[in-house]
Parts: sequence; structure tokens; C-alpha cells
Amino acid sequence: MLNVINGRIVTETGIIEGNLYIKNERIHSITSDKIFEGDVIDAKNQLVTPGFIDIHCHGGGGQLFSHDPETALKAHKKRGTLGILPTIGYNMPKEVFLEGVKKCVLLNDAAVLGINCEGPFINKEYGADTRNVRKIEEEEYEAIYDEGKGRIRIWTFSPELENAELFKDFLETKKEIIPCAGHTGCNREQLKRTKLVCHLYDGMGPKERACRDIHETGTAEAVLSDENLYAELIADCKGVHVSDLLLKVTCRAMGEDKIILISDAISTKEDYSDGDLNYNELGQLSGSLMTVNLAVCNMVKHTGIKWHQAVKMATLNPAVLLGLDREIGSLVVGKKANVVIMSEEGNVYHVIENGRIYQ
Ligand SMILES: [Zn+2]
Repeated sequence: MLNVINGRIVTETGIIEGNLYIKNERIHSITSDKIFEGDVIDAKNQLVTPGFIDIHCHGGGGQLFSHDPETALKAHKKRGTLGILPTIGYNMPKEVFLEGVKKCVLLNDAAVLGINCEGPFINKEYGADTRNVRKIEEEEYEAIYDEGKGRIRIWTFSPELENAELFKDFLETKKEIIPCAGHTGCNREQLKRTKLVCHLYDGMGPKERACRDIHETGTAEAVLSDENLYAELIADCKGVHVSDLLLKVTCRAMGEDKIILISDAISTKEDYSDGDLNYNELGQLSGSLMTVNLAVCNMVKHTGIKWHQAVKMATLNPAVLLGLDREIGSLVVGKKANVVIMSEEGNVYHVIENGRIYQ
């Protein structure tokens, strides 16, 4: 038995001040009573959250998942990401992309919930370094799918590309894959038959507005008006990917159940005093250096939403999207004991994975 005492326990609906007990790798109880059996971790009044789930993450610890997945995984786990979809980027040539998928398939760890393919079938007008993006071709998506060995859970593409409807047909036959619209200037018709949107507002059209005097609507507004879609958001510390104002607008439009905070991390850092953004060799903004627990803190800071709402956007919402919420995603009796103890600034003191302290 493992006891986390004196915590501010972040549940699905609010914060409970008390103790959380873990038995046989599961959450046994959340209570104000003291139990004196087993080991004790004193949370010292810090936040006690569910293990974070990051569905869009390219790397960490100086390594991409496609090159050195073990190092990348460790960098995120130590900050409390206990569910992750290693993400293969559209900037890779064909063979490198396939090799990346292969490496992630071989990464055998309970925290790896599958793979996210961000491309390569995206619109070259939207995104950093799109030199390697490709047309939608059956031969290539079949090859990527085969290399994925059933582990691909999210596949991002631009729905306005030629053959996108055929690709949607293909994805519909693979029930485990969530079709995700991204790096796109698509309209609401083209959004149909997708379930998720890749980093809303970033790499998204329209590029130019035709008339200065009216607020024309584009892809983002089509997303905001669709009650069935989930949207990824990058909440970096300075509000560069998405401004604080736009984060607030999104919370009001989409509510707390459909927003999914992601890191879109290319790597991670130990010291964030000079920010959390990543720039590629072309000098373009390209993802972040965050871990997703920090995105949660940024979301609270920028929007003023409550802790349990922001935490949900990086725990329960992605778990529901992936169909894993019966086991993970919130601190509920009976679920797997994935637990993080951290400060409101995102400093992580303890990570508990499957009921055991993660070293
Ligand atoms: Zn990405």
C-alpha cells in the first residue's frame, strides 16, 4: 500500500484536500481519514493530479522519438507524462518517416499508448519546414500503416488535399485510428469525418483575408462551431502559439471537455528561464520544449480556468478520445494508480506509475 497524504487532490470535478491510498496498482480510496499501513508520501499541500497524457509529442531530453525513443520517453515521464503518443513529423523523408514509426512500435512501455502520425500528407502552405510533405498516395499510407503494426492511434492530414476522401475511407476501416485534420486551410465540409484537430490555430488557414471590413471565417471557426470535434491546443508560457485571449475564447466556445492540451515537444529543457519555444534550423517556430504538465499550468495562468478543468484537458479528455478512460485519465477509485505530485508552477516532486514510485 502507498499513501499520499496532505494533498490537494485534483479530481474530475474539483479539488479535495486529503489523502489518496493506492493498493494493488489501483486507486483504493480518497479520504480525509488516515490509514497507517504501507509507505507514505507527504504531498505537503501540493497538487495531486492524475498521470498526464500527451497525444502529440515528438521528443524530449535532446532526442526525437524517431531516433532515440527511450531517452525521449524518460524526459517526459519524469515530469509526470504517464501516457504518450510518440509523434512522427511531416518534415521527414519517406524512409526516415517509416524508420521512425518502426522505432516507436518497438518501444515497449506501458506509458506508450500508440503512435501519432503527423503527416506526411499535409498542405505545404501550413506549417514549418514543409519541404518533405507529400501527396496522399495509397502506396505510402498502406506502407506506413503496415509498419505501424496496429499501433497508430492518430493520423493527421490536410482534408483539402486531393484523395483526402479516399484516405478517410481507408481510415474508417481502421477503427483504432482517429482521423485528425491539421496543417490545413480546410472548410467545414472538408472537416467532416475527422474527429480531432491538430494544434488548433497553429498551421491553420486562411492565410489571407479577402475583406478588411468583415471577420471572415476559416478553419478555426469551423472547428469552434462543431460540437463533436476535439481540438489540440499548445499553451506555451508566453502565449506565442496561441494568445491568452484566444485560449479564453476557445474555452468559452468548446467547453472543458473537448480541448486537449499537448506539448508538441521537439525536446525538453531543465531550465525554462528563457522560454519554452522551439525554432527549427530555418528559424521558424516549430513546436515547443515543454512537457504537458507545464501546458496545464500555462492554461490556468492565461485563462483563469480552475485547476481541475485544465488538468482534465491533459488527462481525462485525451483518455476519453483514445477510449482508455475506464483505466486511466482521472483519480477515481478503481482506476490505475498513475499519480503526479506537483506545484502550481509545474515543479514535479513525485511520479507514481502503476502504483509504484517512478525513479
Ligand atoms: Zn507536431
